[in-house]
Amino acid sequence: MTTALPKSAAALVAKAAEPEFAAWRRNIVRLGGCTNPIHLVGAATVYDTTTGAALLSYGSDVYGGRLLTACGNRRATVCPACSGLYRADTYHLVRAGLVGGKHIPETVSRHPRVFATLTAPGFGPVHTRRERDGRVRACRPRRAGECCLHGAPAGCRERHSASDPRLGEPLCPRCYDYAGAVLWHAFAGRLWHRFGLELRREVARRVGLTRTEFGEVARLSYAKVAEYQRRGLIHFHAVIRLDGPDGPGSGSTLPSWAGVPLLVDAVRAVIGRVRLVAPGADVVGRRVLRFGPQVDVRPVSSHSRGVAGERRPASAAAVAGYIAKYATKGAESAGAVDGRIRHAREMVVLPVRAHVLRTIGTCWWLGGLPEFAPLGLRRWAHMLGYGGHFSTKSRGYSTTLTALRQARADHRAEQQRASLGVPDHSTVTVGQWRYAGRGYSPEAALLAASVREGGGLHGA
Ligand SMILES: [Zn+2]
Ligand SMILES: [Zn+2]
Ligand SMILES: [Zn+2]
Repeated sequence: MTTALPKSAAALVAKAAEPEFAAWRRNIVRLGGCTNPIHLVGAATVYDTTTGAALLSYGSDVYGGRLLTACGNRRATVCPACSGLYRADTYHLVRAGLVGGKHIPETVSRHPRVFATLTAPGFGPVHTRRERDGRVRACRPRRAGECCLHGAPAGCRERHSASDPRLGEPLCPRCYDYAGAVLWHAFAGRLWHRFGLELRREVARRVGLTRTEFGEVARLSYAKVAEYQRRGLIHFHAVIRLDGPDGPGSGSTLPSWAGVPLLVDAVRAVIGRVRLVAPGADVVGRRVLRFGPQVDVRPVSSHSRGVAGERRPASAAAVAGYIAKYATKGAESAGAVDGRIRHAREMVVLPVRAHVLRTIGTCWWLGGLPEFAPLGLRRWAHMLGYGGHFSTKSRGYSTTLTALRQARADHRAEQQRASLGVPDHSTVTVGQWRYAGRGYSPEAALLAASVREGGGLHGA
């Protein structure tokens, strides 16, 4: 008995018989398994800049009328392949700022630096998995029968498993301050910005310098990422580093007072102090926004095997891995939705848990009020009100994602020049491309899936 090939496999076999199959296959394999490529229509010509001669012309016609290009999305839920590349780049970028590499000298590893976690404050009790000394503790022990204003139990004696769906859910939704949580998210980026300004001021003050004098002898730089917690609020994880006046370069001399304990103490003091007052006090009550009381600031060692998440010094590799991991996630890790919500009616059918839906609903409600119009809360409702970037770094931290991508493009151009027989000449590519759609045909999707699994369908 023979089994019929699935339709997509049959289409792939038929495709393999076509004369342009090799070019078609190359185009898809080159995308590295991207799940949702962009189609371009157009043409390009490579010129020799010395002689002005046209060396090579190519158009989308060689790929069945379309040139496919990888989507480049950073999020693992959208495109695992492109997100993997983004994660690797972020890892190298963060690591270079800790131990050197990518044009950053190794001497950077002697600069004082800390790994800090800045949390959101509480907006009401939520079910929590508490672990101490390797043992799971009761969620929220309270006297039996103790209730909130609404008659809901004030405590929870369960030892929640890591996969318990109640984790992050409020004990009483009516006690939970949804407006406060949403406003905190809307201002989280500004809180971070204020934190940076205050930290410079604080370090300067501790060593007896004015801010101007401080700027002449030292610089602070950072790389940070936002991570969604189960309760639907973000944490910031950040590497904060103290450099000489010229940043991480070897010519930059660190001032004698620069040390890790100074940085740890200053970061702690400032996290506890930064605050902003949210607008709209007459609508939802006065909200003073600040970071949560759980503050974790620890040194980063270049060599130790420390793991980010423990109280020991964190190792550079663990910190870089941690930041890179969260740089590829979005609000979906809190159980929210992938895409923007454009109409209130969409909320009725969102496949999210009740707590997330209430947060999204609060974004929608506040976003429709004139007091909160500048915050764009409806636009960021699917992110639970946080409209900031997921991973950012200050200008002087290390290399940039753009520089890492450019290095790859330069390498490809070098290979192309070698194949054209003009390795020593510089070339320029002039092209004109237009967007023509997204995605794969069934046979291309099958090939892309095999690339993702590391196969690549050799032969043909
Ligand atoms: Zn992709
Ligand atoms: Zn509980
Ligand atoms: Zn209550």
